[in-house]
Amino acid sequence: MKTNQLFIYLLSLMLFVSCMENKSENTVADKENSENKETNDFKYWVWTSANEKRADSSYVHEFKKYGENGIDAVLINTNTDPDLLARVAPLAREAGLEVHAWIMAMNRPGDSVALQHPDWYVVSRDGKSTFDTRPYVDYYQWLCPTREESRNHVLSLVERLAKVDGIESVHLDYIRFPDIFLPIGLLPKYDLVQEEELPEFDFCYCDVCINEFEELHHKNPRDFENPALDMEWKQFRLNKIKAVVDEAYDIAHANNKDLTAAVFPYPEMADHMVRQRWDKWKIDAVLPMIYHNFYNEELDWIGFATQQGVKDLVVRDTQLHTGVFVPAMDAEELEEAIKQAKNNGAKGISFFDGNALSGDHLKTIKEFKSK
Ligand SMILES: [Zn+2]
Repeated sequence: MKTNQLFIYLLSLMLFVSCMENKSENTVADKENSENKETNDFKYWVWTSANEKRADSSYVHEFKKYGENGIDAVLINTNTDPDLLARVAPLAREAGLEVHAWIMAMNRPGDSVALQHPDWYVVSRDGKSTFDTRPYVDYYQWLCPTREESRNHVLSLVERLAKVDGIESVHLDYIRFPDIFLPIGLLPKYDLVQEEELPEFDFCYCDVCINEFEELHHKNPRDFENPALDMEWKQFRLNKIKAVVDEAYDIAHANNKDLTAAVFPYPEMADHMVRQRWDKWKIDAVLPMIYHNFYNEELDWIGFATQQGVKDLVVRDTQLHTGVFVPAMDAEELEEAIKQAKNNGAKGISFFDGNALSGDHLKTIKEFKSK
């Protein structure tokens, strides 16, 4: 049960993104135009997964259900398999859906290439590598964003997906460090208390990170009495994730694709919880996972977090599409969540995940969209 819950949580953390329906609209006039358009310009997404064992007919059924009920775009996790993506993408497009290639970026459990290189994995402040010691859950196996070989491996996976025809974007999930703080609503389930940055959840203290930081700043994080107080050490790690994103952006665009990402609710919160500062990234769209129930918040918090992110992105050409956690809401609450996102400046809403959408949820989406 614990593992299931964590898995859902993790999946949802990774999820989101999208690329821009208005990618080419660069002028102010175009922008204003698109902002003034009616409801139809508000985009509806779902996250879903594929595996090679499923028959085409099963995907056709799933995608048709989305297409007929007002969903515009689907983010598909193929476990970075470009052949599977090339197989299912046309099926989604036939149902009228945009396709986005969803990849688990820095968290790479069971990655057969990475597993041959134990030194590619992040190391905690207490000296343990996620190669063999995983924080929180068994599928937390994170790569170091600083070490050249591990970051290049992640970028090569991005490139492989970006080359698939008929997709709109590569969608980065888990593009961050492991959670230094878990969402407050999840702590009791794991019997955890986190009132400060604890060593076993604080990464990356590998030799490459430490050496590079020491060369830059002439101090060693392994010697810090309270590393949470050292701003350069935090900034170093924020910058390392940003560097991976920025390079992924160039790779995606070199292949005429967008870059999108599933991120934490709003920038300051993402910074605090997972060392992720997405308002500073080169990226076409972000899908913050504004999962109110994980944080013991109410539905209006979806509006608050959406608006905070939109304001923080004001100087950048990055779209924000609010991500919501479907299992926590009935159809009426889902409609309220859509309103919260739309009324607070989001360009769309993404549902985690497609399989959790009931007939009532779908009916609500379809009706709301046609209003
Ligand atoms: Zn490292």
